[in-house]
Amino acid sequence: MKKILIIATGGTIASTPGGDGLAPGLTGEELAAYVPELADIAQVEVVQPMNIDSTNMRPADWVAISRTIMGAYEDFDGFVVLHGTDTMAYTAAALSYLIQGSPKPIVLTGSQQPMANPFTDARLNLYQSVLYATDDLSRDVTIVFGGQVIVGTRAHKQRTMSFNAFNSVNFPLPAIIRAGRIVRDGGVGMALGDIWPDGAGDVASSAGPLVYDRLNERVIVLRLTPGLSPRVFDLLAGDFDAIVLETFGIGGIPEYERASFERAIFDWVESGHTLALTTQVSEEGLDLGVYEVGRAYAENADILKGDDMTTEALVAKTMWALGQSKDPEVVRELFYRTVNHDRNPR
Ligand code: ASP
Repeated sequence: MKKILIIATGGTIASTPGGDGLAPGLTGEELAAYVPELADIAQVEVVQPMNIDSTNMRPADWVAISRTIMGAYEDFDGFVVLHGTDTMAYTAAALSYLIQGSPKPIVLTGSQQPMANPFTDARLNLYQSVLYATDDLSRDVTIVFGGQVIVGTRAHKQRTMSFNAFNSVNFPLPAIIRAGRIVRDGGVGMALGDIWPDGAGDVASSAGPLVYDRLNERVIVLRLTPGLSPRVFDLLAGDFDAIVLETFGIGGIPEYERASFERAIFDWVESGHTLALTTQVSEEGLDLGVYEVGRAYAENADILKGDDMTTEALVAKTMWALGQSKDPEVVRELFYRTVNHDRNPR
């Protein structure tokens, strides 16, 4: 029987009602005890590096989770991280960059309702996650939630209450779980890597994962809104090394009379800051080549293009790339590496 390590970190799944509202109260051991059926499919052990609402999860916690996994990597066949849903997409992306090309599955799950709620989604999500983590074809970082398997760099929390909380953005589901069975790629039984091989820069899977543990937290997301002043770049320059800029549509950045975004953006990158462009439209991604106004940005190699990546993955990837080097050329090389299916270049 496969050995699976459950890493409990808190979230609604572990929450119990208190005087001030729901807060994580159950331990990982208590959560696992709610699903005795786990004993039929795996030999499960539990660790608890933290017990927090994922609202309070920080990059240092992502590194702590990664270290917990790597500290036990040789002793287990798969890992299931129990996590709050609110920032799960960020953690899944971050783990994809911290532990790259893992031949052993690292699955994140949680629930919209606490485990102790009689109508909870927690029991099924935990069971299905352990089931997925025991399968020979499973690998890399994924989220298993509401019967869907979502690649760790492609998740976005789309719903605050419904049990299908997550969408997979710009990428197909590698599998669904139906009637206690894993159904891959419409049932043909192939692993994701067989149908969607990662880019040439990705790490080989059989050699074991490529592990990192440094992140640069000085990354901010800036969403353009009509009339926003480009002076915002000056305001951010002292406190941040990188901006992930959510442009309009397929890549629109305004150019107002006497308020030049182009100047502000070029100054930002010329002064050694990093800029990654994406779109605030949730599906289909960025293409700066389409409109005349986007050309100058498209042609500037210092401006990183997020293509069809999620904002969550862009934040984690920029933190990871800047955590490895300050050299813009190295950062660019890391940024454009395809990791865990995170981008489809134009
Ligand atoms: N606030 C909770 C959390 O993210 C929500 C949840 O788990 O569903 O920890």
